Amino acid sequence: MDTKNKGFNSKLVHGGGYKDQLLSAVTPIYQTSTFAFHNADHGAQCFAGESDGYIYTRLGNPTIIDLEKTVAELENGFGGIATSSGMAAVNTVYLGILESGSHMIGHEALYGPSRAIMESLYPKFNVESTFVDATKLENVKNAIRPNTRLIFLETPANPTIGITDIKAVSEIAKEVGAVVCVDNTFCSPYLQNPLDLGADIVLHSMTKFINGHADIVAGMVVAKTEEMYRQLRSVMMNVGCNMDPHQAFLTRRGLKTLAIRIDRAQANSMKVAEFLENHPKVEWVKYPGLKSHPQYELAQKQMRGPGAMISFGLKGGLDAGKKMMDNVQLALLAVSLGGIETLIQHPASMTHSKLSREAKEKAGISDGLVRLSVGIEEAEDIIADLDQALMHV
Ligand SMILES: *Cc1c(COP(=O)(O)O)cnc(C)c1O
Repeated sequence: MDTKNKGFNSKLVHGGGYKDQLLSAVTPIYQTSTFAFHNADHGAQCFAGESDGYIYTRLGNPTIIDLEKTVAELENGFGGIATSSGMAAVNTVYLGILESGSHMIGHEALYGPSRAIMESLYPKFNVESTFVDATKLENVKNAIRPNTRLIFLETPANPTIGITDIKAVSEIAKEVGAVVCVDNTFCSPYLQNPLDLGADIVLHSMTKFINGHADIVAGMVVAKTEEMYRQLRSVMMNVGCNMDPHQAFLTRRGLKTLAIRIDRAQANSMKVAEFLENHPKVEWVKYPGLKSHPQYELAQKQMRGPGAMISFGLKGGLDAGKKMMDNVQLALLAVSLGGIETLIQHPASMTHSKLSREAKEKAGISDGLVRLSVGIEEAEDIIADLDQALMHV
């Protein structure tokens, strides 16, 4: 079915447009590495791009293409490029856009490895980078150099929930001919469409909200234009960070319920955030749905909902954070996010424990900061669990 003029949930259910002769309700798993040609001419047409036929799974596979088409449509882009993980999507963009001698600007609180790999591996290829607090536009403007090719944003950012104005940064980038890429993992296309706000590329760790069931690792890049799509697709195909057909099948299945999952997790999040804000052992709460969020107005404008990620600070610092982690029962003490189960983690003792005190402070990670990915359980049960864990703090 053509879903172009249909609503978001109809696109989730029917997007991709896969049809075969057996009219299967669900896109089958084409668990094959290679595809036969009818004859020499057909093989030649496939290689020349003059036929819809398939060649080899690293280059394209019906199960994967169904998912790529669906996500590209949800993000209003020209085409999607599925990758083996979210980090494979990040590296596909870095390799596709940057070259020796070029410079990139990144938001300082990017997902850890997105920044770490730029600072540890890419200098080897003579790529320079500057990381700034992109929530303040003047920082982005001041970081621009004549060789700036890429501005890489993540909004809301991890784990400080800071929000960057995608439209304003895209305007700055356009003036200097730089490409803007937004890591849209925290929002998913249900809550935010960076390409509509002026970005050139959007990417996802589909491990998180898009698949939503904590049972696979996967990534996706969506390019706005055909030219950008071809450029990035060729990187994925030749680097070999392609998705596997079974992974694509599971992700496509998880994606169908994206909106109803987020609606529910978001409703829970609002209740949890309000509970935390009124708790005597909690110093502060950062959630884009609370009026106390410093960029509440921008969130209202740029996002269709506040999402399901909450950060909060415990008055008791490091010790309080660890005690709380040791006492949660319903919430899973685990990294990752965006699944149906509530996950909790304590960056100062876990994901960010290796950072120096100075680096932690710069990234806004205080000792008492706790990050919560709110799931779809009963809100009352999530709150009761946090409440009892906080009693031990
Ligand atoms: C998890 C995550 C990634 C990396 O994705 P993987 O699927 O784990 O490789 C990138 N960006 C953000 C915002 C993430 O949360």
